[in-house]
Amino acid sequence: MDFNEFLDIQLKDLENKGLRRSLKTVSGMQSSLVLIDGKKYLNFCSNNYLGLANDSRLGQAALNSLKQGGIGAGASRLVCGNIDQHRELEKTLAEFKGTESCLLFSTGYMANLGIISSLFNRHDVIFSDRLNHASIIDGIQLSGAAMKRYPHCDMDALEKMLKEDACLGKRAIITDTVFSMDGDIAPLHDIVDLAKKYDCIVIVDEAHGFGVFGENGRGVVEHFGLEDDIDVQMGTLSKAAGCFGAYVCGSQKLIDFLINKARSFIYTTGMPPMMAAAGKRAVEIIKSEAQTRKALWENTNYMRASLKMTGFNTLKSTTPIIPIVIGDNEKTVEFSKRLYEKQVLIGAIRPPTVPENTARLRMTMMVSHTKKEIDWVLDNLQRIGKELCLI
Ligand SMILES: *Cc1c(COP(=O)(O)O)cnc(C)c1O
Repeated sequence: MDFNEFLDIQLKDLENKGLRRSLKTVSGMQSSLVLIDGKKYLNFCSNNYLGLANDSRLGQAALNSLKQGGIGAGASRLVCGNIDQHRELEKTLAEFKGTESCLLFSTGYMANLGIISSLFNRHDVIFSDRLNHASIIDGIQLSGAAMKRYPHCDMDALEKMLKEDACLGKRAIITDTVFSMDGDIAPLHDIVDLAKKYDCIVIVDEAHGFGVFGENGRGVVEHFGLEDDIDVQMGTLSKAAGCFGAYVCGSQKLIDFLINKARSFIYTTGMPPMMAAAGKRAVEIIKSEAQTRKALWENTNYMRASLKMTGFNTLKSTTPIIPIVIGDNEKTVEFSKRLYEKQVLIGAIRPPTVPENTARLRMTMMVSHTKKEIDWVLDNLQRIGKELCLI
């Protein structure tokens, strides 16, 4: 088949299924108002929970680093691209998380690929929540380990699978701590108990937990008081921390192993030093400004309670990620479009990102949202929900 013909057919197919996506270009800062084509939109789909992506203190830290060390790291960390700023951020993160050591990756996606594919091979088995992030699934596939997907947060099903499994290699349970499309959290206590009982390694992805959960913002692991029970704590600096890149925190041995074996760490250039400097400032702010986290939770609780009262299905969300399940793909897109006409930005999430027949609007709350902005969005959600016969 002709290459262009192949592309045409694929795109047409997506279009027919209501699944074709396109990019919107945002100008200016990532705050509660964003500019698209010169028009202001209320932003309810950013992961910039704490406003750090546009915090001038991070900008200042990046600028200071820029003046000292330029822009790029110049080489992979193992060659000559291991810069002071990397080491300082790793030290700050290990101290903050209370682990022996820490290693940076360029992105969360690459962290999961590198961690999982280096630790496991075809003799091993990995138990993975059905709703785990795509980067976890890709990491498992790359590792060659058997992937056993358990129904979302279903601990009885997980235990049954663990009991029946006869793998002689390593066994691991991997889970998101906050599920990025449902906004609920993993039952980490039960997971840790099962891991002990059935001799499994526990790996958690705190992408949406870091900076948001826990008294000090260390994540869901802190929230549950399980800091000593998780073997591998991965998270990103691209969400609440407002930067870019990812970390893995754990024992010194784990980090030494990953430095030697994780291909997405070895075969890529080190993070730009100025980004590491900004990341360090972000961690310091997360640590010292609990009141920002508290205000985020106030916005979140208000929005969710109001949506529930209106009659929307927000699943079991207990986090600043709030889904509104519509079901039908086209209706979901229509809903999102009508919101967009009212200058409200809330993404329509469709399969394959979420299971069939669970297309949804996905809102994320930020500390920068004012009560007035939230109420305006609620009014519009209610009106359009009625127009589309959803409530
Ligand atoms: C966003 C996300 C990632 C990827 O992180 P990036 O730093 O954006 O590559 C990984 N895991 C989960 C659960 C996420 O939500």
